[in-house]
Amino acid sequence: MFMNRWWKFVQRAVPPEVIALLRLFKEHGFTAYIVGGALRDLLLGQIPADWDLATDALPETVEEICATHSAEGLKIIQVGKKFGVIKLLKSTLDIEVTTFRQEGPYSDGRHPDWVDFRSRIEEDLSRRDFTVNAMALEVFNKQLIDPFGGRKDLRHKVIRAVGDPEQRFAEDALRMLRFFRFQSSLGFRGDRKTEEAITPHLLEKISPERIREEVTKLLVSPRPVQGLSGLIRTGLLLSFAPEFAGVVSDECLISHVLMTVEAITPHPRLRWAALLHDLAKAQCRAVDERGLHYYGHAEVGEELARNVLERLRFSKDFIKRVTILVRWHMFSADPNQTDTALRRLACRVGEENLCDLLELRRADIIASGQNYHRAWEGFSAFASRLEALLQAEKVLTLRDLAVNGKDIMKVLGIPAGPQVGQILQELFAWITEEPDRNNREDLYRYLEEHYLSGS
Ligand code: ATP
Ligand code: MG
Repeated sequence: MFMNRWWKFVQRAVPPEVIALLRLFKEHGFTAYIVGGALRDLLLGQIPADWDLATDALPETVEEICATHSAEGLKIIQVGKKFGVIKLLKSTLDIEVTTFRQEGPYSDGRHPDWVDFRSRIEEDLSRRDFTVNAMALEVFNKQLIDPFGGRKDLRHKVIRAVGDPEQRFAEDALRMLRFFRFQSSLGFRGDRKTEEAITPHLLEKISPERIREEVTKLLVSPRPVQGLSGLIRTGLLLSFAPEFAGVVSDECLISHVLMTVEAITPHPRLRWAALLHDLAKAQCRAVDERGLHYYGHAEVGEELARNVLERLRFSKDFIKRVTILVRWHMFSADPNQTDTALRRLACRVGEENLCDLLELRRADIIASGQNYHRAWEGFSAFASRLEALLQAEKVLTLRDLAVNGKDIMKVLGIPAGPQVGQILQELFAWITEEPDRNNREDLYRYLEEHYLSGS
């Protein structure tokens, strides 16, 4: 009964382009299956974001068959000919076709020494990471191949390695991160034996980019705390971000950080900012006559956050935007402060980051618990004032200044150099107090009074 209903769902869920491609393989005398995450999602009653297919056709043949199919408007991209992976893309469709393979040993802990394409679907499934990702579906014969109990694990919501977890993690250490990533994205628990095989130092072999991609997927998933707790518990987090040592050893602090991550909008920049925002709090903790405080943790935290993000090779723009949030997350949200103070904040942070900063504060307040209602009231009033101010006037950036470096050199008769930049900053600070001053007359008068009148 369930299977009947499920087949009906599959018929509706699989796009015609995928069915047509599977049929083409069949017509050419090959078999082709829906596999991996696509089949897992279908079995969960969800529409997959991308379509993983596996076939016994050799890579050159896959290419030829896909080329015929490209007439349907699909663009073909070769991901790695050596590994027999071909991608077909259309605006809303992402299909990945791989040839069944058998793999040799992984002596570098990242890639197989050899790949043999002459194999059976069962062998292909046995090299996949987790049982829930190691099934295959032949749609025309309605045949579901499940050699490792993937359906049972789906029912029990368990992520379990295919085969011996120690060996599987030694082959490709990225699977340790994927183990927690799938717990977060699917809301499953991890199999105990699989978790026991986690060996953090193996991650050293993995490229920072691959680590970055898996951790980001974990962070933006619906249950980031589930996976993050595992990364902390097993020491994986410290192996790629030792900067967290002080945070993870402080129970209150780490639970606040985790709650902030969960409370913030699931966008990569925001989730990373939430994870990193209190990175220096443990090391800046001090007790004096004013009581317990964490002075300077935002400034020190900015540097530590930059270290983590640079190590993981995030783009310059991403690093800049996240570190700005870490640096300014302690901004004053006093709703009674002056317009000048609000403008100063907007200029320091940059208009494009203000929404993110407010979102970080919102999550930070939710995750703090104490005095929640008072903090929330003040914050709401502050956010409304800031929004009104931004709507009423354009926030200025250095580029909007009515004079430029050349003007300054000419008026003051000074050569190009760092002094010109400093004077531009000074003029900028002056106009943010009173934006009407941003005209050449007022700015030249300022330069005259401050730099020329005494000489
Ligand atoms: P997502 O929903 O993120 O796309 P997915 O399961 O499809 O999840 P992919 O990274 O797209 O994950 O990989 C597709 C399939 O390839 C997986 O389901 C798994 O069978 C296999 N796979 C991917 N990476 C590995 C790996 N490092 N080791 C073993 N098998 C892997
Ligand atoms: Mg996928």
